[in-house]
Amino acid sequence: MKPILVVGGGPAGLVAAAGAAGVGRKVILVEAKDKLGGNPIHNHYSVFTPNQVDAETAMKEILSPVEKNPNVDVRLSTMVTAVEGEAPNLKVTLKGAKGEEKVDVGAAVIATGFEHFDPGRETQVYGYYEYDDVLTLLDAEKMLKAKQFLRPSNGQKPKSVCFIQCVGSRDRQIGNQWCSKVCCGIASQQSIEVKELLPDAKVFIFYIDMRTYGFWEDDIYWKAQEEKKVNYIRGIVTEITKRGDQLVIKGEDTTMGRPMEVPMDVVVLSVGMEPSPGTKAMAKMFNLPLEHHGWIGRAGNSPLNTVSTSRAGVFVAGAAGGPADLEDSTSQGGLAALKAVGYLNGLKA
Ligand SMILES: Cc1cc2nc3c(=O)[nH]c(=O)nc-3n(C[C@H](O)[C@H](O)[C@H](O)COP(=O)(O)OP(=O)(O)OC[C@H]3O[C@@H](n4cnc5c(N)ncnc54)[C@H](O)[C@@H]3O)c2cc1C
Ligand code: SF4
Repeated sequence: MKPILVVGGGPAGLVAAAGAAGVGRKVILVEAKDKLGGNPIHNHYSVFTPNQVDAETAMKEILSPVEKNPNVDVRLSTMVTAVEGEAPNLKVTLKGAKGEEKVDVGAAVIATGFEHFDPGRETQVYGYYEYDDVLTLLDAEKMLKAKQFLRPSNGQKPKSVCFIQCVGSRDRQIGNQWCSKVCCGIASQQSIEVKELLPDAKVFIFYIDMRTYGFWEDDIYWKAQEEKKVNYIRGIVTEITKRGDQLVIKGEDTTMGRPMEVPMDVVVLSVGMEPSPGTKAMAKMFNLPLEHHGWIGRAGNSPLNTVSTSRAGVFVAGAAGGPADLEDSTSQGGLAALKAVGYLNGLKA
């Protein structure tokens, strides 16, 4: 029986691999980096939203079924370099530390995820590469995980911290015409963690509109606002400059309809998601059409079919198919495994 290939060892790929292996299928799990876990592990997430559990501990829940299952052949530091044929007769070339190898697989799940928007792009005006105290959500995750939220410029505790939402998302000028779905929740979660470490700091979130859907609204947004006294300000930040040793946020308070200029010790940019280079490369290699924003497209673009692509036997899961939170990613990973097994069992997938 031919194995199922899973490309990408993040939350979606891990659940897909464990799902197919759990029902007795052989799986080859290919991960480009030298460690499984995807963005939550590679980027040192602190706690998960919305349940606020330690991210590294929580990830063991989906890592150990893969690591313990002898049906999963994990290939770290490995890339897919060529794909020939059609499912269920795909011939895939893998390139790892020990050289190249051709494997025959019956179906494939692409779970190559997202990358973070680079806030240094020319259209951005937030001084990320100029000012030490301008951070991204990722930089903040690392500091919060270490339980040390200090100003990078001088190692002191910040007295004021703000988050700027929608950096690189919902932006027609740069062509990223999507909402990245998680950043309002993640910024609110991080603001709670900052207040827990630094109860005297003033914390602000500058937003266009807050999008904390489902239970995130109650568990994160209201907790930040009511319990932790985080200040949410509807406003557009157009520029960050420096005055003395402080940053200055310039823009417009859109509720009050007036210009604003606020000094700040630390600014966190809520950078959005873009398709990862691996997602773009796998789309080309597996000959998968992209949907019109540039992510891997789903067959029929139907909300009722979240993992099938236009190629029979090739499935997509998680953030390779568009902005996704962990619930989306792991749920789709499970569904992709089921559909891949169903496809190989001769069912219509
Ligand atoms: C700062 C931040 C915090 C977040 N916190 C939360 C949270 O608390 N709760 C929540 O629900 N969501 C959160 N998210 C969203 C969460 O990160 C994603 O939902 C999740 O990581 C998507 O999983 P994935 O497996 O689809 O992709 P990824 O996590 O991107 O994993 C993709 C994997 O594929 C690998 N890969 C890429 N290309 C190739 C290739 N060519 N060959 C082989 N392997 C390849 C990558 O190395 C990676 O391991 C957060 C996002 C950000 C930006
Ligand atoms: S989740 Fe919030 S910050 Fe992220 S793109 Fe959507 S509205 Fe903007």
